[in-house]
Amino acid sequence: MVDTQIILRGVKDQKVINAMLKVPRHRFVPEELTDRAYDDMALPIGEGQTISQPYMVAVMTELLELDINHRVLEIGTGSGYQAAVLAEIVKEVYTVERIASLSERARQIVRELGYDNIFFRIGDGTLGWPEEAPFDRIIVTAAAPEIPDTLIDQLKEGGIVVAPVGSRYSQVLLKGIKKKGILTTQESVPCVFVPLVGERGWRE
Ligand code: SAH
Repeated sequence: MVDTQIILRGVKDQKVINAMLKVPRHRFVPEELTDRAYDDMALPIGEGQTISQPYMVAVMTELLELDINHRVLEIGTGSGYQAAVLAEIVKEVYTVERIASLSERARQIVRELGYDNIFFRIGDGTLGWPEEAPFDRIIVTAAAPEIPDTLIDQLKEGGIVVAPVGSRYSQVLLKGIKKKGILTTQESVPCVFVPLVGERGWRE
């Protein structure tokens, strides 16, 4: 998976490659899909949600330009896979999920795998996690019409946010850098994510 889907397509950050080699993706997919866990696609995880395509996880993680001291906020825990990839690289991951059953399942898997630097919250991630803000990096793994201001407010000066932004059915990955309180964005690859549903996202 890492050679053909990630390195051959241009992901270069060795920290990302090592993390993707280490995290057992098959543990994060439903049991009946275990044999497809390393396929080149998103897979259903229940509740109408998905675990992102491995390549998309790698690209988003690379765009974040992570280092070991970072505290990262993730919106959309889903399976917990992206959180585990982040947790291999940085100090602390704070991940918010609106669907309790998904958050609880992800929490159990990462505990079984021994991660002690991932913190879970059930709630509307479009509001961020104000008690733990500000964050060095923010990653949004569900699609919104724009990056919610609440999240930009919770990003440190000089921080980076990565998020899929666009219509409900197709988006582009945006990388934003916050300088002097203002976010400057640049477009990366096209993508398709499930909708970010919440106060600052799409209505259900
Ligand atoms: N990062 C995940 C992929 C998650 S799919 C993984 O690695 O598996 C997107 C997730 O975002 C879904 O689980 C969905 O329920 C969640 N989501 C959608 N809107 C949200 C919101 N406002 N707050 C928190 N989570 C949200």
